[in-house]
Amino acid sequence: MTQKSRKTTDHKGGSCSFCGASAEEVPLMFNGADGSSICSSCVEHGYELLMEHGIVAEANHTKSRGGKMASKFKPLTKDDLMRPDRIKSFLDDYVIGQDAAKRYMSVAVYNHYKRLLAKGKTEDVELDKSNIVLVGPTGTGKTLMARTIARLLHVPFSIVDATALTQAGYVGEDVESILSRLLQAADYDVEAAERGIIFIDEIDKIARKGDNPSITRDVSGEGVQQALLKILEGTVVNVPPQGGRKHPDQKYIQVDTSNILFICGGAFDGIEKKIAMRLNTNAIGYGVQTTKRINEQNIMGYIQPQDLRSFGLIPELIGRLPVLTYMEPLEREALRSILTEPKNSIIRQYETLMALDDIKLTFDSEVLDYIVDKAIEFKLGARGLRSICEAIMMDVMFDMPEGEEKEFRVTLDYAKSKIDKEA
Ligand code: ADP
Repeated sequence: MTQKSRKTTDHKGGSCSFCGASAEEVPLMFNGADGSSICSSCVEHGYELLMEHGIVAEANHTKSRGGKMASKFKPLTKDDLMRPDRIKSFLDDYVIGQDAAKRYMSVAVYNHYKRLLAKGKTEDVELDKSNIVLVGPTGTGKTLMARTIARLLHVPFSIVDATALTQAGYVGEDVESILSRLLQAADYDVEAAERGIIFIDEIDKIARKGDNPSITRDVSGEGVQQALLKILEGTVVNVPPQGGRKHPDQKYIQVDTSNILFICGGAFDGIEKKIAMRLNTNAIGYGVQTTKRINEQNIMGYIQPQDLRSFGLIPELIGRLPVLTYMEPLEREALRSILTEPKNSIIRQYETLMALDDIKLTFDSEVLDYIVDKAIEFKLGARGLRSICEAIMMDVMFDMPEGEEKEFRVTLDYAKSKIDKEA
């Protein structure tokens, strides 16, 4: 709205020349010089149309709670509630393997939304939040899993890195800034943000160093864990809309975090040792059945909250993350499937990109095996698949759109020549 038109808004009177609403029925009426008027609802509607047609960028202003502008996030209804098996099969379309984690996630998300819908209906029993911790090596699909869940639920989703956070008063981002990101993802629709999902990556990096509680304040670790507690549990937070540091003159938006689902991910390097140590200690402990066999190939499968504690997360934080599950390292077979099977698999993405230029792209099957071999050799896991594909495809993507050819077949020799060139 320009400054000029703003001057004409004080006058409360007349009716909207567009929808006929009277000044009493709407929050604001804008009066033109010729006596015509337009109400704030019609202005909002016009703005939405401009956004829909790409004439203006999406709203990046602060919207008040209960503001009328239509949001792309609809309120949750009973029809949106998906049973755990349906959630899992949706995850199956995008995430390869990771069955244990998928089952835990599906149940946690189902319970979370059931809890949201039941709000105020369960009189005696207060249902707790089911915040989640995903433990597993980097590149095994932790972020992908959280992102896929958000896609399924049509709720705002944001990713934050725990290492960027510091406790108030230190250089770095205030813990509240994790909510600024979510607000941005929700186009500042506060109510949508309040039922969104936040993925906090690298939660293991804010672990307390050493087993002893620190006497001095620990800027990077324990202090941040302490600061996270309230937000994870549920509180009303004053959020700086643009993130970063809080300062006294800033305007804040109040966000209630009681219904925000937090998913924390971390590699927790070396936690297997802590698990193994605990299992061994238990094995000689009183009352333990010594006949119980431990599958040494899958130590992670035995992870328990106390292992997070020995790793350096404070018990209060662990208590607010009741769902604990793990991601398996991706073996050759899984990496091969990741290339082609998910709905938006890497290979499909390249095929689609080229198809947009009317070019038919095909990969010989041994090229796919070669890409997997290289990813394993470079120890990059699933993250490596993409960079290897990119190296192979770079020249094709540069040259083909200009040329006459409408087909390209990626052969093993071709792929090798591109990777050897890079090495
Ligand atoms: P993490 O958060 O565990 O470090 P990401 O979820 O960021 O890993 O994974 C990086 C990329 O690797 C994803 O974008 C995806 O393309 C691929 N990827 C990783 N794990 C899987 C998986 N289990 N299934 C499908 N794709 C995967």
